[in-house]
Amino acid sequence: MFTGKWKTKKLTCPACGGDITALPGDRAFACSRCELGFELADGRVGRLSANQVYRGWWLRARPGGPAGEGAGKVVLLPFWRFELTSPAQAFTLQDTGKVPPKVRKSMRDEERFDLSRHRVFAYYPAFRTAHAQTAFNLSATLTDTQPAYELSAGAYSAGAVHASDAAERGLCFASEHLGDHSPGLALTGLCGRGSPQLVSLPFERRGAELVEGVSGARFPAGELDESLLALNQEYKSPPEGEKT
Ligand SMILES: [Zn+2]
Repeated sequence: MFTGKWKTKKLTCPACGGDITALPGDRAFACSRCELGFELADGRVGRLSANQVYRGWWLRARPGGPAGEGAGKVVLLPFWRFELTSPAQAFTLQDTGKVPPKVRKSMRDEERFDLSRHRVFAYYPAFRTAHAQTAFNLSATLTDTQPAYELSAGAYSAGAVHASDAAERGLCFASEHLGDHSPGLALTGLCGRGSPQLVSLPFERRGAELVEGVSGARFPAGELDESLLALNQEYKSPPEGEKT
């Protein structure tokens, strides 16, 4: 059934009956209520876990406090998140030779990139941006800052036009383009990647920009598909799922 001026498609979650809102061209879908998501890739339907940043945590963790949360100001955007896995063998000089010493030092010394002590994630937008460079920059900021997102069940996946395999290719390009000054992406280029997860991250409208205040990720609002932005502004705050 098509409803609304943007021809959004309402699907129902096979697990819990929750709403799944999709735009034409979407490849990944997530239930707004439970953790179920699925994607269309290689002609197959694959299940995956889908979560959103826990709103209470986000409001507390965000510099500047909760004052910015007003009606219609927060836009939830879908991202792919890949857990980085240690390579079978330690990095060789040849592997890291292309990485400038300063970036190599951050990769090695900064605790948030220590795979033996933390779960480390690489991020890539599931939504379309007008310029690939914007997607690369978002990927670099999120992967460099490693925000300690607390997640809750349910996600908002409308506009998720990139399936996980496309996001993985994007991540490789991002790593090639920005790995010489982004320690997170440089590390991503050397590591294996675990199963993809869809996470929706809250961005605030600040003038002409969309800003995720915890990581500092930002990009021009004009780069988003108008349909996605319009749909999202109409979107009422999702029911806050159980904190996981
Ligand atoms: Zn569900």
